[in-house]
Amino acid sequence: MSSTHKRYKAEGDQVVRLKKECERCGEAVFMAEHPDRWTCGKCGYTIYKRGRKAA
Ligand SMILES: [Zn+2]
Repeated sequence: MSSTHKRYKAEGDQVVRLKKECERCGEAVFMAEHPDRWTCGKCGYTIYKRGRKAA
């Protein structure tokens, strides 16, 4: 009856990932973007971006 129609999202990485949700607070809370990391202003959760540099 219903044809299985798989829809693949042709999403550009830069367009979609402008905002990042906090893993602790949930999807409603967005994290602040920093040059090297993402920080949540609510719980203080920090996510480092790719290419971590050991200081
Ligand atoms: Zn948070």
